[in-house]
Amino acid sequence: MRSPKRRPVVAIDGPSGVGKTTVSRLVARRLSLSYIDTGAMYRAVALRAEDDGIDLTSDSELERFCKRVDVCFDTESGRIFVDGEDYTDRIRSPRAGELASMVSARKPVREFLVGVQREAGKNGGVVMEGRDIGTVVFPDAEVKFFLDASPSERTRRRYLELAGKNPSIRLEDVEREMEERDRRDTSRDISPLRRAGDAIYIDTTGLTIEEVVERIVNTVKERPGYGDICC
Ligand code: C5P
Repeated sequence: MRSPKRRPVVAIDGPSGVGKTTVSRLVARRLSLSYIDTGAMYRAVALRAEDDGIDLTSDSELERFCKRVDVCFDTESGRIFVDGEDYTDRIRSPRAGELASMVSARKPVREFLVGVQREAGKNGGVVMEGRDIGTVVFPDAEVKFFLDASPSERTRRRYLELAGKNPSIRLEDVEREMEERDRRDTSRDISPLRRAGDAIYIDTTGLTIEEVVERIVNTVKERPGYGDICC
């Protein structure tokens, strides 16, 4: 018999380069849940703001900008749209990551995107990944994970990802960019990256993607009432 319990919100947070996007996508597929990449939203909004000539250090300009833009992460295709324009192919550049990390520290942008994310996950049935899902966006999420890995392993993973697209990229540049992003994401005043007290911590250093996915899927299925919801 099917459990009457609602389908869960699975929150997956952690620093950059930890493999959240790959893992979260696979977990969602295994559990037949939707997948939402909140980092993609920050990246797309940052690029659009820059395209529109917005001063990214001005809260008043950002506030006006956020009031007029529409952001949509399509859970079917995994593509990200701003005002109907597809930003998916542009968001993975190091520049987009840097801009995202800048605008994500600004209050109007955070308030706007947290609202979009809460709306998207309000009925449950979603794997949502980011930095503040378990702490701010869905503090009552049914299951929370915090993925981590050593800084050198995270640098190595991010380097391999970027080098596939740009063979001239240098390891030391990736390392510097990662350190800067970590510093900004953990030290900002609003919603800094931190582990929720009730999040399950997984050190992924030395684990394969499949091992991390397996651990998360099994944990969700072992929760009372969820074994039969997810396949
Ligand atoms: O996860 P990803 O690397 O795509 O995120 C890009 C940037 O967006 C992060 O460095 C972080 O500054 C910001 N972000 C955030 N909160 C989220 C997701 C991403 O602040 N929930």
